[in-house]
Amino acid sequence: MTFKREEFQHVNYLWDDAVADKLDLVERLRYRSNLLGADQRITNTGGGNTSAKIAQPDPLTQETVDVLWVKGSGGDLRTATRANFASLYLDKLLSLQGLYDQAETRGVKTEIEDAMVDLYRHTTYNLNPAVGSIDTPLHGFIPARHVDHMHPVSVIAIAASADQEALTAEVFGDEVGWVPWQRPGFDLGLVMQEKVRQKPRLKGLVMGQHGLINWAEDDKACYETTLTLIEKAARFVEGFDKGQQTFGGQKYATLDPEARDKLLVRLLPRLRGLVSQANRFIGTVQVTEPVLQFINSHDAARLAEVGTSCPDHFLRTKIKPLYVDWNPQSESLDALIEKLERGLAAYRADYAAYYQACKHPNSPAMRDPNPTVILIPGVGLIAWGKNKSESRVTAEFYSLAIDVMRASEAISHYQGLPRQEAFDIEYWLLEEAKLKRQPPEKELARNVVVVIGAGSGIGKAVAHRVAREGAHVVCADLSAEGAQQTAQELVKVYGLGIGVAGSGLSGCGPAIGLGVDITSRESVRALFEQVVLAYGGLDNVIVTAGIFVPPTKDGRIADDKWSLTYAVNVIGSYLVADEAKAVWQAQGLKGSLVLTTSVNAAVAKPGSVAYDTSKAAANHLVRELAIELAPLVRVNGLAPATVVEGSSMFPRDRVISSLTKYHVAYDDSETTEALRDKLAGFYAQRTLTKAPITLADQAEVAYLLSSSQFAKTTGQIISVDGGLPEAFLR
Ligand SMILES: [Zn+2]
Repeated sequence: MTFKREEFQHVNYLWDDAVADKLDLVERLRYRSNLLGADQRITNTGGGNTSAKIAQPDPLTQETVDVLWVKGSGGDLRTATRANFASLYLDKLLSLQGLYDQAETRGVKTEIEDAMVDLYRHTTYNLNPAVGSIDTPLHGFIPARHVDHMHPVSVIAIAASADQEALTAEVFGDEVGWVPWQRPGFDLGLVMQEKVRQKPRLKGLVMGQHGLINWAEDDKACYETTLTLIEKAARFVEGFDKGQQTFGGQKYATLDPEARDKLLVRLLPRLRGLVSQANRFIGTVQVTEPVLQFINSHDAARLAEVGTSCPDHFLRTKIKPLYVDWNPQSESLDALIEKLERGLAAYRADYAAYYQACKHPNSPAMRDPNPTVILIPGVGLIAWGKNKSESRVTAEFYSLAIDVMRASEAISHYQGLPRQEAFDIEYWLLEEAKLKRQPPEKELARNVVVVIGAGSGIGKAVAHRVAREGAHVVCADLSAEGAQQTAQELVKVYGLGIGVAGSGLSGCGPAIGLGVDITSRESVRALFEQVVLAYGGLDNVIVTAGIFVPPTKDGRIADDKWSLTYAVNVIGSYLVADEAKAVWQAQGLKGSLVLTTSVNAAVAKPGSVAYDTSKAAANHLVRELAIELAPLVRVNGLAPATVVEGSSMFPRDRVISSLTKYHVAYDDSETTEALRDKLAGFYAQRTLTKAPITLADQAEVAYLLSSSQFAKTTGQIISVDGGLPEAFLR
């Protein structure tokens, strides 16, 4: 039985012949994959794979051969392009069974099984560089031309239930078979091949503790079979849903959003510090209704301990989360932190015991023993990852695991993957090899850098520079619009990442743009609160915001402009440092602060007394803060000189008045950029290095001062001025 397009209630039927019929067979596979991946109820981000066996000419012989196109390792169905699919000669892939059968010991987790993975590359069709995943043999050994392997919540619920085999028969009759949990690989492909040989009319298999695999001879029919089987499972599960009594009913109530955010602002930096002792993590907060229903329930403590089931889920969530039994209505934040500290210590000890109990002689060394998912009643789920995208994926996966537990507990009893099996996935040598193949992390990976003044000029250049080093960048500026513009530029370059999770600001990508007025403590505080809600904390702050009020023709500036100059250039930087200090201290992690001063701080000259003295004060502020914030935070100053390029401090009339002052010839018809180049050229001639000073020059030093390369430097002012002897500090 199949459902008609309009009958689906639990999945979105998206296939459109008008689109598909214009595509070649490989593009139709890509199209089908994107449609399946677009619905979280069908599969999770990065999870599952699809394939098509397509007759194509051999590039050498021009003979028609069958090519297995299958989603490659590491791709994501929702966002997959043609380049994410591996292509293999089907006959060569199947012939590997001959080699496999010759091995003395074979079967799941044997040496020969892992050795087969390296051979897939030898079966590549048409030099396609995409690498096949460990699921490749599943697709190869099932004879049907189109195969979908998905991780649907409703089917995993059946597959993770105590009586999964009987439930499979009850839900699907004899249309769908069942295979017990087995780590994916060559042997599982053979197991499936045998199932189909015994029952040629099967449309699919429920994979114990894992998901669904199904097939058809036609791609649209395969898509419809996938949707139909998931719809059937979802309808079955729905019939048993426990409603208010889900997870044994509610034990705690959810905090109202305002109280929750207030708590998170104080909690997250503390928590980030606690989990980041070995490696820094970026946080994502997930507070949906289904997530809270689980965390607030009577059964949450018991089920959290059982852990996640689908291997895809737990590779990110770890085998289990840390659940803290804290009463949001009657207990204090201090009590929560104390419980978290104890909970984390117990979790790490438990993880080390799991590693010791399950490890093999050749297992990789123990990984970071901290939880990646923390559940707090009344508040929500907090996920941690090496970057924003990863922590969003982790939050997504545990949210899906909650949906699985809800359904499984309704129809039966939920069971997790046995610990040894979980270990053998987590510490699989093939997984380890995949980790080792990843490029080394960049200098500012796992860091959150707040750039104040990022809307234009040096700040904008700094935002781009630190993003290139892997930083998450909070672009802040008096102009919220300018800040958002820079953040959008960064997201365009680096992408939003994968992972569908994160509530409110926490659902962000690698950069956000926020408005701030650094002359107001409230505004600065609000900025850092938003930073904490978005990423869980912060590491480096770089202030480039500053103000230069041009004097009147007789060289004076009004008293109120003096105040404004000091409010921005001195007190503003102090307020930023003072408010960031609270976050740094809560985290207890090393950080850095860079303030932008000016060579004018050291050079006395007429016409800019307010600006110059404010920058001299800023230089000394650097030194005072270096002492105040030590040993946790390094504080250094960047002292630029006359960066004319793209600077908001050099509007056309200031450029013209400077050119006039220095007797540099110009014409009124010249563009502002041309005039700025002229002025920059003039300034360059006054320096020792005789070259114009660019935004990139300033951004480089702001980045370096924030990086580990300057880990032993604090309280210093570095001039980036091309070399001006009169500005030498002494
Ligand atoms: Zn899978």
